[in-house]
Amino acid sequence: MKAKASDMHSKDCVRVAVRVRPFNKRERDAGSRCIVSMVTSSVTIQDPRDSENRRSFCFDYAYWSHSGFTRDHSGLYVAEEPGGRYADQDSVFQDLGEGILENALQGYNATLLAYGQTGSGKSYSMVGYGPNKGLVPKLSDRLFRVVRENQDTRQCQVFFSMMEIYNEQVVDLLSRGSRIPGGLRVREEQQRGFYVEGLRTVPCDSASQVEQLMEQGTRTRTTTATHMNANSSRSHMVILLQLKQIFSKESITKQSNINLVDLAGSERQRSSGSEADRLKEGTAINLSLTTLGNVISALADVAVGKKVIHIPYRDSVLTKLLQSALGGNSRTVMIATLSPADICYEESLSTLRYAERAKRIQNRPVVNESPTERLVKELKAENARLLQRLNRLGQEGRRAANETKELRQLLTHNELQIRAIQTMWEQHLQEALKDWEQQYANITQERRMMQMHPYILNINEDAQLSGVIKLFIQEGEWEVGLCDSSPRCISVKGLGIQERHAVFKNEQRQDRLILGSNCTYLFIGFPSERGVDDWSRYDYDFFQSELAAAEGIHLGESSAGSSQTDPSLLAVFYDYIELMPMVAEANQMSQELNKGVEFKLEIKNLALSDPKGHDLEKETVVRVTSVGKKQVWMWSKAKFVNRKFLMEEVYQQHQAEQSGDSRAQGPCTSALPRDKDPFWDPVEPLLLGTAHLWLQSLAFRIPLEEQLEVLGSDGREEAILQAQLVPCSSTGLPLAEDDILIDPCELLGRRLDFQLILEQFCGLHWIREARNRGVQIGFRLFDCSQPLYTPAVWHNINPLLDYRVHFASLHTSRRLLDYLQSSAVVLELWGLQEGSSDLTSSLEGMRMTTEGIFIIDETGPTNAAVSLMSSHFDLFLKLRKRRAF
Ligand code: ADP
Ligand code: MG
Repeated sequence: MKAKASDMHSKDCVRVAVRVRPFNKRERDAGSRCIVSMVTSSVTIQDPRDSENRRSFCFDYAYWSHSGFTRDHSGLYVAEEPGGRYADQDSVFQDLGEGILENALQGYNATLLAYGQTGSGKSYSMVGYGPNKGLVPKLSDRLFRVVRENQDTRQCQVFFSMMEIYNEQVVDLLSRGSRIPGGLRVREEQQRGFYVEGLRTVPCDSASQVEQLMEQGTRTRTTTATHMNANSSRSHMVILLQLKQIFSKESITKQSNINLVDLAGSERQRSSGSEADRLKEGTAINLSLTTLGNVISALADVAVGKKVIHIPYRDSVLTKLLQSALGGNSRTVMIATLSPADICYEESLSTLRYAERAKRIQNRPVVNESPTERLVKELKAENARLLQRLNRLGQEGRRAANETKELRQLLTHNELQIRAIQTMWEQHLQEALKDWEQQYANITQERRMMQMHPYILNINEDAQLSGVIKLFIQEGEWEVGLCDSSPRCISVKGLGIQERHAVFKNEQRQDRLILGSNCTYLFIGFPSERGVDDWSRYDYDFFQSELAAAEGIHLGESSAGSSQTDPSLLAVFYDYIELMPMVAEANQMSQELNKGVEFKLEIKNLALSDPKGHDLEKETVVRVTSVGKKQVWMWSKAKFVNRKFLMEEVYQQHQAEQSGDSRAQGPCTSALPRDKDPFWDPVEPLLLGTAHLWLQSLAFRIPLEEQLEVLGSDGREEAILQAQLVPCSSTGLPLAEDDILIDPCELLGRRLDFQLILEQFCGLHWIREARNRGVQIGFRLFDCSQPLYTPAVWHNINPLLDYRVHFASLHTSRRLLDYLQSSAVVLELWGLQEGSSDLTSSLEGMRMTTEGIFIIDETGPTNAAVSLMSSHFDLFLKLRKRRAF
């Protein structure tokens, strides 16, 4: 294909549209606020914690699909009032789809990218749901209409391909054969650029054929996702429409590639925390999406005149395939989708920033045209000349036999070429039609089965993949499981699915069904038993809420849905439901891979570490326990989610090894070194629980002796701790009863000395569970810059601590007094385990007298008697030894 020279230098910026969807059920239940607003094509987002903090962005289009709509009788979402601001699927298509089609018809390459966090509406915009068709089906519908209307001036050929990029592997979603291990290869040719070798391209001549192919692709996507236990939100779905137009009068062929890309959820790019985690996670989480971000940033820099040495197209599969779409020969549109809810603020802001960078990218699109038809004419003319020569040679006799042979060969070659050019399309189309008829027969058959038998319908976390697979339960008894050899078996594959997993008896019952860890199905009874056909209410959330309720985790009937439900509680509830199936999957994978670790969901109560005990926030965490040594890790939600992705990778690798795929890349899963193994972390001290020691008595200089309950984050008693607060003299002698104050204000401006004594633990649960463990207490008092830790005690359920520390305030301030009267010192119980080192007090920046008294409440200039701890460090260490500090 040659580029038309006249277009060579025209620049074309990536066009960017932003769309905001309605609240989903979760967000409505949580009483979410909408933090996105739009005026014409500008989008403003507001920080939910600081209403003054607003940011505005300007785009080519802004689509308000959040409110002002209604559902018409056919299920279509349309504006409530004619001319209302609601942007429906049609208006999005008119702006974006028509433009892309127009470009393609002119012979430009065109690309449409959907970017946004999972659940924000990428697939809704690209593919659509039910009657609310998205850009791709609408585009193909319009395309074939144009093709039909212009039949007399041009012949059009449309080829359809559909692929998925998951974890840097390209999967052909239309391939009829089994999946190629390691995925299809991406190759590069000078003329063509990067392309996927061996990708199935299906000739199409109608929109319904395209839709059917999309359905087929989605089905493949659903089954591979379940079999391999892969999460669709981490994969990119790419549809490639190749349009070839042959203008017979002008003897010109125009060709255009239309890339339609539903990108992976944007939320997973961030790492979950520590440096070690970052190293382990690397960019593996989603190399293609990370690289796409880097390419866009680099191109945006180019556009503003910055010097950019290298644009990392070659770093990932996706960016290779999109090279022409980004900074190259394509007209490109990005639709960035937003969730309107306050809890998605960070994600939405980052989507807007991303979109803003993409807006700056400049492409240089050219019309792709070539003289294919002319080639046929030229070949024909050449053949005519060859024939003439042959005739002449024939008359000249034997002498020219060799030349004759050569000419004949050339002639045949040319003829073959002509025929190939002319018949290829016809043949392809014929084959595709046969295929299509077969598929059509399958669909008709499925419809008939639906009318006769009960069936189960898959429900996926990704709504786009729900209801795609139907498994029919015919009369009698059916085995369900991996077995596909048995004649009476319904074959189901997936994590945790056994060879013979269950038996179905076709009797009259209605149920929901969960097989293994990730195979969720909705049971649809006999036709006579069916109510409304709309099963969309029973989505993935519904299943998981039901499961959570069965585990005793639920929101009261009255509170769910009412705006009075504490949003933070709801957030924890939804985190819990979201994580529950993932934890089940992680356990299953650990078991199948013999990792010897167990995962358990816990809800952590943050009030336990708040000095005033006020913080009502709760947080969902995952407790990881090694079965043998009983080592324990606590993972945050973010960390677990990222880790689970890496576990999936290991699991898929294992699956591939099992099935004898020698080409599988990556390290052998059984022998992963610990620093690469997502199931493992270095052992660290673990926060087990806290106790609050209230300080009020000190304000009156009254001594206090307490048996404190140390409570775990789930409210369970971890131990009893005997502690004392003793007001004392500057030499550490306990004060007499006469020194008790009636009015704490008397302390203001005066010196206050007191000792905190931690005597003994009773009934340490942590040690009772496994004797190879130890504990320490850590705490931070008032304005101390560092936490202090007691020495570690090991192996004993009731160990003696005998820890004593002396604090002094030289000129007691109002602030300290308020603190004493209203706060507690939070005593943290840290669990030590085999292989972890003790926690030590750093003392950096802490002030201490030569007698080892910690000075607190120092606002004024440095007192002469006090100096920075570091200069007395040696002395301190000696003191510490002597006093069993
Ligand atoms: P993504 O592909 O970004 O993960 P989806 O497109 O699957 O998200 O959308 C998630 C859910 O939100 C789906 O149930 C979908 O029907 C709904 N949704 C998304 N965008 C819209 C919209 N503009 N109008 C109505 N519903 C929407
Ligand atoms: Mg999607």
